Amino acid sequence: MQIYRTSFAFRNREYPIGSGKALQFIYGSKQAKTKGGLTATTATTNVYRSEQFKHTMEDIRSQCCSPDEVIFGPDCRQSLYCHLLCGLICSDEVQIVSSTFAHSLVHAFRTFEQVWEELCRDIREGVLSSRVTVPAMRAAVSKLLSPNPGLADSIHSKCSRLSDWCGVIPELWPNAKYVYGIMTGSMEPYLNKLRHYAGGLPLMSADYGSSEGWIGANVNPSLPPEQATFAVLPNIGYYEFIPLERPEARPVGLTQVEVGKQYEVVVTNFSGLYRYRLGDIVRIAGFRNSTPELQFVCRSGLTLSINIDKNTEKDLQLAVEAAGRLLAEERLEVVDFTSHVDASTEIGHYVVFWELCSEAAEGVLRGCCNRMDLSFVDAGYVGSRKAGAIGALELRVVRRGTFQQISDHYIRLGGAMSQFKTPRYVAASNAEVWQILCGNVTACYFSTAYSSHVRRACRGGI
Ligand code: AMP
Repeated sequence: MQIYRTSFAFRNREYPIGSGKALQFIYGSKQAKTKGGLTATTATTNVYRSEQFKHTMEDIRSQCCSPDEVIFGPDCRQSLYCHLLCGLICSDEVQIVSSTFAHSLVHAFRTFEQVWEELCRDIREGVLSSRVTVPAMRAAVSKLLSPNPGLADSIHSKCSRLSDWCGVIPELWPNAKYVYGIMTGSMEPYLNKLRHYAGGLPLMSADYGSSEGWIGANVNPSLPPEQATFAVLPNIGYYEFIPLERPEARPVGLTQVEVGKQYEVVVTNFSGLYRYRLGDIVRIAGFRNSTPELQFVCRSGLTLSINIDKNTEKDLQLAVEAAGRLLAEERLEVVDFTSHVDASTEIGHYVVFWELCSEAAEGVLRGCCNRMDLSFVDAGYVGSRKAGAIGALELRVVRRGTFQQISDHYIRLGGAMSQFKTPRYVAASNAEVWQILCGNVTACYFSTAYSSHVRRACRGGI
């Protein structure tokens, strides 16, 4: 709560808001009881369920438009529909559009594109769609609905005028001041689409934290998300930093980090019950009042490696973005992506799975596959590809909705929609997710980017 209040104070200085509400795409997850009688659940669910959360949201003028029955509903798809409906009902009051992670925002507006006419119908007739079947959710949302043909007509005409949903957020929520959520790290691939929906509204990257402990507040909210930094709040936990260049070295303290260097973050929570390596790499961007400002770099686990090549989650993101620019020329886009190393043959190769917004021509996809292969610029990869020690990169296109099936899978296991992050690497041992991916492949392409080198390497006997 303290970190929410702190970052709000900084945000509000630059983008002041009056009293109003927030269209928040937030979702509670399942709760379970341990054998010892404790309640086990995800961090965000714990936060949303606490009384303090409500008070804090009132104080920082970010009260959610939707009733609790929507936030804690057992079916995220129904909750999302109701969040959109509640947001439209109080469209003039909404000052902030937010979610914990940017993925949920993009997912919400992609869904809006599909259901907007149904939402208009509900508002016009004052009757909730039959797709909402959870009794408590139906009752709570029905209470907010009454026939409002004027609002329905206005939403309908605004949506019909939009070109490819560009600027839908300010159009439908004219008093919104900004769009808010975690937009750094593995959320960066969703920024293009989010900017498209946000039109001219500023995107503000939220704080940096984890279930194990919150870490820093975004105290420079006017910076674009790509440049966001997080000032560590030293009274919230105990923080240590493992130097990236010397992982065997002892972790250093908060005041011993050096500007420009990269570290892995270790957090010890207040009770001192655990000391936890988050697996995140950060760069020290500077100091503010003796506390470091961190820039999120990436998760530390290597994503892709076959022999001497090393490509991180960030490298994968850059390669997908580079190839995505070829798609943009065709007015197409990657909805989501993940990767895999196929080592089942003697010469292993990278596999990248793409879900696209609609069908792309074979020639375009072949071009994208080559561009991705060439965009992994790590010397180990390039050398191995030229020598034929790593095989041609493979692009596998999956059906529309595949990544939704993957998030549904994690939510069934008890994960939180509010904390969902697409896994950027999937091993075959992750049997269910692997099956979802493989069962939905519609086309595969192999890169020809290094074929002349490989032919030469083969003739040379390598
Ligand atoms: P969770 O496992 O759901 O508790 O999520 C925590 C993880 O989300 C962190 O360890 C980071 O990898 C990621 N994360 C949280 N906040 C940010 C942020 N502001 N920028 C980038 N990644 C973040």
